[in-house]
Amino acid sequence: MNMEIKDIWKSSKLRQFWHNFSAHKTYVRLCRLSKSDNWSMKYLLPGRLWLDTVDVVITTKCNLFCKGCHHLMPYYQQPYHMDKERLIATMQKLNECFDWCDHYNFLGGEPFMNPDLKYYIAEAPDEKCNVIQLTTNATIIPTDSELFEVMRRKKVRILLSQYPSNRETQQRLISILQQEGIEYHIHKPVWTEYGKPIERSRSTKELKQQFSRCPVKCKQLYDGALYYCFRSSNCHDLGICNVADDEYVDLLHNTKEQNCREIRRLMWRHKPVRACKYCLRGTEENVIIPRGE
Ligand code: SF4
Repeated sequence: MNMEIKDIWKSSKLRQFWHNFSAHKTYVRLCRLSKSDNWSMKYLLPGRLWLDTVDVVITTKCNLFCKGCHHLMPYYQQPYHMDKERLIATMQKLNECFDWCDHYNFLGGEPFMNPDLKYYIAEAPDEKCNVIQLTTNATIIPTDSELFEVMRRKKVRILLSQYPSNRETQQRLISILQQEGIEYHIHKPVWTEYGKPIERSRSTKELKQQFSRCPVKCKQLYDGALYYCFRSSNCHDLGICNVADDEYVDLLHNTKEQNCREIRRLMWRHKPVRACKYCLRGTEENVIIPRGE
């Protein structure tokens, strides 16, 4: 498609209509699956499960307090590390369900603040993941040799988010990762406005449109369950809004069969989640904001 046709398409009513249509989400996911390194039709067969991206949240502690934090970390009055046994059991329940995962990502808060990080990485099923990744704000320099060893063994890629506050430590961290032979990637994410987590009045039609336009693909593993998105898990954990029974998978308490069925349902979901009312993604107000301020 040349630029002119692309521009016409971008501003056309037909495109808006298509993005409002619930089949758009299915189409986007199928496109993503077809571009995946390990694409195979077999993952669409009954009984097979392919995950796009799963974020394993290991802590809500963070040493930065970015006002635009999508994950709402500054709202935690008493941030905490996840319980080790419970999180490992939850990961094991998830891992037994899927056949392939594109991105298996460890996330916080700031993951290097959690002393149990090495135990969680050791549980990552590298044999069926395209990329195992850890996202850090690059302000903490780890020193644990066992952590480096497990990161090498699991071929973890460190994603260094670039913020105004981490220029100096980022360079030091890069030198250490190079010495330790650990892959890294400097990430300059575009931050957009998700807004304060307050309830907004939106009609059913508006919520449907918002959800259909929302491009967030990562499912969130959080305290025993898998949630549709990070806004849903964090709003729930902070007591800001509830989740309906079909908006999460209770991994720890379900059987494997129940989990497989419910994860598949979550991946192909067409209905907004309750947290959409508390979020600006997928709306005109979701404008670009400064990163990490
Ligand atoms: S709450 Fe809704 S709009 Fe916000 S990220 Fe989740 S699915 Fe998207």
